Amino acid sequence: MLVKTVKQSYRPSSELMGFMETFRGIVNQCITIGLKENRRSMKSLSKASYSKLRQYQITTAYKLCAISRAAGILTNYRKLLRDHHVEISYCRRASLVTAACYGLRVKKSILNLPSKIKIEVNPHTVSVLDRTNIRSVTLTPDSLNIAYSKEIAPVKTTGLLAIDRNLDNVTMADTAGKTSRHSLDKATLSKALCRMTKSRFHRNDARIRRYIYGKYGRIERNRVNPVLHNASASIVRQAKQNSLGIVLENIKGIRKLYRRGNSQNKHYRFRMNACSFYEFQRQLSYKARWEGLPVHYVSPRGTSSKCSKCGDQVFAKESRIVECPRCGCIDRDVNAARNVLSAALRFRVKGPPSEAMVEEREPNGVTLILKVDGGQSS
Ligand SMILES: [Zn+2]
Repeated sequence: MLVKTVKQSYRPSSELMGFMETFRGIVNQCITIGLKENRRSMKSLSKASYSKLRQYQITTAYKLCAISRAAGILTNYRKLLRDHHVEISYCRRASLVTAACYGLRVKKSILNLPSKIKIEVNPHTVSVLDRTNIRSVTLTPDSLNIAYSKEIAPVKTTGLLAIDRNLDNVTMADTAGKTSRHSLDKATLSKALCRMTKSRFHRNDARIRRYIYGKYGRIERNRVNPVLHNASASIVRQAKQNSLGIVLENIKGIRKLYRRGNSQNKHYRFRMNACSFYEFQRQLSYKARWEGLPVHYVSPRGTSSKCSKCGDQVFAKESRIVECPRCGCIDRDVNAARNVLSAALRFRVKGPPSEAMVEEREPNGVTLILKVDGGQSS
């Protein structure tokens, strides 16, 4: 079972704003009670605090949701407290949360909440929302978030689709031997422009800097996210059509590669660190899981430095082209995507043995013999 959220903007009435402020007050009072009496579970917190919430003029459903929210905040706080000294995060923004068990209904593009709150939902929300499986609704002063769930049946895959992420593009190679590419040029360009604009700010005033950086951060997100969403949605569509599992490199620690002192110039570092590797991975993995497609991760070791045909060391030739002493010139990204695919077939994912073959060239360079690669053990 997976849960997804659809978000839309709306304008709350003054009555609804009042409810949100009350909700925030209840959450914060419950946090105070929980800290004082050392209450750990939702049940014990609600026993301790429910009778003290009489002063609030709000339906019981919202009170119980507020207690649940406070219990969540307390649990997170205690978890963080084990390793670091942290301050408890009280609820600062007004909000309102309610769960499906207290009666949530979408009827003809109107969302009905307890206390006869009615909110109009837009056509997009109506089209994506599965009305029978609404889980919860969260209201903030500027957004309405509806969480809904879906039972996912795992898809039987017939092959794999390996993905190599780069700064300017995403390259795919599948087990059928096809390769394709999505350009991310637009995202890189938007990032570069926003970075340039921000770098021209020289005034030593933290408030104005925060304002300017916030503004350009928003502009950047609004331009970059659609490009990433288009690419990830299209990849998942392709994988679903051909029933392919998705393979990605495990890029944990990628930011350590581009740090000061690594003998790279600062423009290169800024450019590489601006790349949204994790955001793309997040989008791709949640979209794939929503369709029931498995996502596998392989070690990135040697994926761009070895030849995908013979396993030899490759050397940079021109931009985006590498040269293998035995096989000649290959596109650098296609080579990397094929290496990711073969790593998945050899070490992580169960696939037919015939897939894990490499071309072995005879010393005279004429005959090609296919042999099963023994992997790391040989
Ligand atoms: Zn080679």
